[in-house]
Amino acid sequence: MKENKKDIRSLTKQQLRDFFLEEGDKAFRGDQVYEWLWSKAAYSFDEMTNVSKGTRQMLENNFVINHIRVDAMQRSLDGTIKNAVKLHDGLTVESVLIPTGSRTTACVSSQVGCSLDCKFCATSRLKRMRNLNPDEIYDQVVVIDKQSKLYHNRPLSNIVFMGMGEPLMNYNNVLKAIDKITSPEGLGMSPKRIVVSTSGVPKMIRKMADDQVKFNLAVSLHSAIDNVRTSIMPFNETFPLAELREALEYWYKKTNRQITYEYVIWKGINDCQKDIDALVKFCKYVPSKVNIIEYNPIDDGLYQQASQESLDGYTRALESNRIVVNVRRSRGKDIDAACGQLANKT
Ligand code: SAH
Repeated sequence: MKENKKDIRSLTKQQLRDFFLEEGDKAFRGDQVYEWLWSKAAYSFDEMTNVSKGTRQMLENNFVINHIRVDAMQRSLDGTIKNAVKLHDGLTVESVLIPTGSRTTACVSSQVGCSLDCKFCATSRLKRMRNLNPDEIYDQVVVIDKQSKLYHNRPLSNIVFMGMGEPLMNYNNVLKAIDKITSPEGLGMSPKRIVVSTSGVPKMIRKMADDQVKFNLAVSLHSAIDNVRTSIMPFNETFPLAELREALEYWYKKTNRQITYEYVIWKGINDCQKDIDALVKFCKYVPSKVNIIEYNPIDDGLYQQASQESLDGYTRALESNRIVVNVRRSRGKDIDAACGQLANKT
């Protein structure tokens, strides 16, 4: 028996086929096992019933399946479910199931903690420990798909990368996970139903455009004025709005797909006319729409949701400039599952 066995899901399909050939078996065995690992999301070799006992034992001797484990599940009065997900090395992330109308959305994490320092976000208080592996991202989706079927009688319909972490700082693994999620060999979901949300890393937005990704892009904008944005999202100092704007223009030129801006309005921070004017102007650079997100207080009380009046000011200005704007109510607030509240409290 090997020490330090390799996670079998780090192998590509071809590598798995080659492994079986080297073992004197058929390449086809690799396909069978691959199907168990991904589309059937098996957690143990014993589940692989169309593979002989001897082969299962041989796999057991050589590999592990580093699956995630739901440590705690909390259900909100509004149907939202928050999972505390334990990883194979004992670290924890959170993922959320959000039911809305006929849809179920999975909000998944891409990193343990976060390397960014957005002042209003609870996750930023956690140190970034490590990136999630593709299978750890994929598993969160599989778990929520099962929960959706169990509690809401329907499969998962949408995925948003708005949990813990900055997905573009773990780009390769996020991309690999999405490949599996969208592939017929995985969950076969449409990339049109996936949104990757970023605080706006210009270089990576350009890379995504070059890679011709098929999922949707959301940018956490929160202010279109540099010094205001830097005060709440300090990394804006390194990636100022002009650079973000150029990267988004590049994205649109390459993909022809509009961008969603996420935007929270805080009292005394971005609730003046000049903030509205700047946002309207910014929205005109690239075809885009705005999602205004309700602020979910994190315990220090430094930031407060702006008045209804300022919110109305924003929606009126955007609409009169023919920019689509949605106002999003938060879900799962009673269990700290809403945007920006994921902080491993449980
Ligand atoms: N790092 C990525 C994804 C995680 S955050 C990003 O920045 O986009 C997901 C969304 O929740 C972002 O739009 C973020 O700005 C928003 N958010 C963070 N804290 C929040 C809070 N306390 N209330 C409301 N939205 C918040």
